[in-house]
Amino acid sequence: MTTNTIMPTYYNQMQVSFEYGRGVWLWDNENNQYLDSLAGIAVCGLGHAHPAITRTITEQASKLLHTSNTYTIRNQAELAEKLTRIADMEQAYFCNSGAEANETAIKLARLYARKKDISDPVIITMKHSFHGRTMATLSASGTERIQTGFEPLVKDFVYVQLNDIAELEAAVQQYKKDIVAIMLEPIQGDGGIQIASGDYLTRVRQICDTNDYLMILDEIQTGMGRTGKWFCHQHFTIQPDVLTVAKALGNGVPIAACLARGKACNLFGPGKHGSTFGGNPFVCAVGSTVIDTMKSENILDNAASIGTYLIQQLKSTLSRYPGVIDVRGKGLMIGVELDKPCMQLTNLGLKYRLLFNVTFNKVIRLLPPLIINQHEADEIVKRLDQCLAEYYA
Ligand SMILES: *Cc1c(COP(=O)(O)O)cnc(C)c1O
Repeated sequence: MTTNTIMPTYYNQMQVSFEYGRGVWLWDNENNQYLDSLAGIAVCGLGHAHPAITRTITEQASKLLHTSNTYTIRNQAELAEKLTRIADMEQAYFCNSGAEANETAIKLARLYARKKDISDPVIITMKHSFHGRTMATLSASGTERIQTGFEPLVKDFVYVQLNDIAELEAAVQQYKKDIVAIMLEPIQGDGGIQIASGDYLTRVRQICDTNDYLMILDEIQTGMGRTGKWFCHQHFTIQPDVLTVAKALGNGVPIAACLARGKACNLFGPGKHGSTFGGNPFVCAVGSTVIDTMKSENILDNAASIGTYLIQQLKSTLSRYPGVIDVRGKGLMIGVELDKPCMQLTNLGLKYRLLFNVTFNKVIRLLPPLIINQHEADEIVKRLDQCLAEYYA
């Protein structure tokens, strides 16, 4: 089914259309069953049709969906408590998408610049980063493909290579007085599962402390248990000043947040920012249930242990293909890098009933639901092996 009443913004959109799901499984309109190793791009951490989520959605929908931020929203206050506690942050602002959360972080940095009397503030971001599709967030993303056609860009983002401390220090020397923030993903998702080293994150933190910059971490993809901790930076001993969260926070219900601590708190005064839908009673009830369920079902431990197991199984099984040059990841955020572009592989995935995508042209990205068990993990390895066997035959 194709339609030209939808703007064709997604390339290689697949013909398959899903009717229902349960756990890590999806069924299409011909009742074929697929193993979902993408989870709607790291959104459905608790899988599909999780009973606790379904219960909250139906209960809250029968009570109240929306009132606007003209009024106090109890569910929002409760979620802010829970979210700031698991993230060890102090304040939350709620919005509806990852791009909006990052837009909020960038606006916070601009206000911080005003406070410091910097008139043309520079924000350092990473090459190959992805922060969203609004004008400020696409300008922040060091990825030409995302920016082309939308110039003029929002000014004064400076891009450096992830994990290259010398390049970062050189940029800091060059723009020193004008820099207001350093913004990065602890693991670049769309950039091909590139993992920031502990040394690099520690150095960013030091530079931000020494120079009074904001450290902004975009954990939209890496957060909410994906890497085996609530947030990826919790694998290290650093804490950001600003943290953005989205994707898995609502398990499919659109909700996002920008969190702040310390010097990043209270920068927005009344009237400085806002959202009609942001943090409404409905989405916040779901967000709270996501956190409660991840706790009660030990989802973080599962993501950590199944993730370690899956990476190890993928390494041993796929090493026989000379074209597979790396398997890397943290928890259940995993990339299998090939030596050549392999965008067509997703179609072979459909044939073997395995859902994944390819980022950075040649990195198979696996982001299964965090509830996955060992048997299902084995099934991912088996099906991906079948795909690659046929691909290289
Ligand atoms: C998905 C993503 C975004 C953008 O989120 P949207 O909800 O699509 O606006 C930003 N940053 C990262 C790291 C992401 O993975």
